[in-house]
Amino acid sequence: MTFEANIEKAGEALARFRRETLPHFIAGKHDPGRSGKSFPNATPADGTSLGQVAAGSAPDVAAAVSAARDAFTAWAATPGRERRALLHRLADLILARREEIALVESMDTGQAIRFMDKAALRGAENFRFFADKAPEAQNGLSLPADQHLNYTLRQPIGPVAVITPWNTPFMLSTWKIAPALAAGCTVVHKPAEWSPCTALLLAELAFEAGLPGGVLNTVNGLGERTGRALTEHPEIRAVAFVGESRTGSAIQAQGAPTLKRLHFELGGKNPVIVFADADLERALDAVVFMIFSLNGERCTSSSRLLVQQNIHDEFVERISRRISKLRVGHPLDPATEIGPLIHRKHFEKVTGYLDAARAEALDVRNGGGGASAHPDGNYLPPALICGATRENRVAREEIFGPVLTVIPFDDEDEAVQIANDVAYGLAGYIWTQDIGRAHRLARKIEAGMIWINSENNRHLPTPFGGIKASGIGRDGGDWSFDFYMETKNVCVALGTHAIPTLGKA
Ligand code: NAD
Repeated sequence: MTFEANIEKAGEALARFRRETLPHFIAGKHDPGRSGKSFPNATPADGTSLGQVAAGSAPDVAAAVSAARDAFTAWAATPGRERRALLHRLADLILARREEIALVESMDTGQAIRFMDKAALRGAENFRFFADKAPEAQNGLSLPADQHLNYTLRQPIGPVAVITPWNTPFMLSTWKIAPALAAGCTVVHKPAEWSPCTALLLAELAFEAGLPGGVLNTVNGLGERTGRALTEHPEIRAVAFVGESRTGSAIQAQGAPTLKRLHFELGGKNPVIVFADADLERALDAVVFMIFSLNGERCTSSSRLLVQQNIHDEFVERISRRISKLRVGHPLDPATEIGPLIHRKHFEKVTGYLDAARAEALDVRNGGGGASAHPDGNYLPPALICGATRENRVAREEIFGPVLTVIPFDDEDEAVQIANDVAYGLAGYIWTQDIGRAHRLARKIEAGMIWINSENNRHLPTPFGGIKASGIGRDGGDWSFDFYMETKNVCVALGTHAIPTLGKA
């Protein structure tokens, strides 16, 4: 589609959000909330309004949890093959609304349409993948002993909270919600306040697909108020959270009195390590893609480039040339590679890091440009920061924008030391043709996920998650079910063992 056609269609898709306050979705119905309070939402593309959003209060959260609790027993008892059919139907509906979801997501988040075009597709894939596992999810192990038979079974843990961030909200929320529903849990979802639109579409589609009211509920609102109330609610059994590390700490504290089970996917400061013997053309493509796609607002972005000293100047020069040609522009422009950052506050945070780098006398080079950027949007040219060491703030802290920090290294040992010298441990990318070295580094780098000679390539059965300040727990495959289900052991005597006797003498 052309830019003009996208603008026109997005206008139609967004009209409902502009017209009415975006409601919660509780027990199968739109719910305006109990406080009458709302907050504004605007598109980062040009700052214009996307309407008001209902600000969830503690009573709204209580209503959603109560709906999830009431729906739980029946949903948990629904045969896995029926849950599978319903979740496939939901995937079908998502695909039928693929274009609308992409346009709304793009305008709500500022993510370029070339990437958001796949948001619905990936969301549908998430539902299909976990739907197919639903019939087997309760199956456990057989653990026979001499005179007993032990077996395990898994049962859904109960109503759960899913709290998501704003960077790719539709894809991320389906990634958490799909396994929860497939496992037999009911869900209260709190989307990020800066990108609430597609969460409502998802809840509506789930209901339209035939999921009973109360199985998937959405409550909008601010983190410290709505999110807090949800994580403190005694009837929420587990919290699946994706967001910043310090928010994870807050949720851990908030959930402690009610002993919540927690799953955290948090921030990252991921190294991409390029050795002189790498296929430099492919490495260049991957480095540029993994930091400048999705506006650099990506937990697995390769935000630190560790490059071997003897190819440093040449490789950095090649990146500079690429960056100078990156097209920054309106998210609905099909030519756009980097869209506007989500919010003015986030824009200021990212530009603050560029100022900090200049104050530390680092070489900050800006590139890119495009015709469709709007003066009132949060457009930031991509940046390359050279001359950094591991001590600089831009080499240690998560920036979450289109900013790449380059750090040279001499040898393998130094590369590992620099890579591990941060609080985070989400992903690591290694570029070398030396197979032994690639595997040595894969063992030594402190991260939950390693990609060798590859950009971030996802395969749904594999475990996804981080270590250190990047997370607790794993998603994907059966790991997701372990989180959303309780494992129960059943021990049956074969009738042959001696039972200790007391009080018989
Ligand atoms: P955030 O932590 O500010 O907010 C995430 C969600 O938590 C929002 O819905 C917010 O309203 C809610 N929240 C905030 N305070 C809360 C509280 N006290 N109690 C309960 N909920 C609360 O994160 P963000 O700025 O929206 O997202 C960016 C962050 O997410 C980055 O750090 C990024 O790395 C991380 N992220 C991680 C992954 C991953 O898989 N590891 C994926 C995407 C994003």
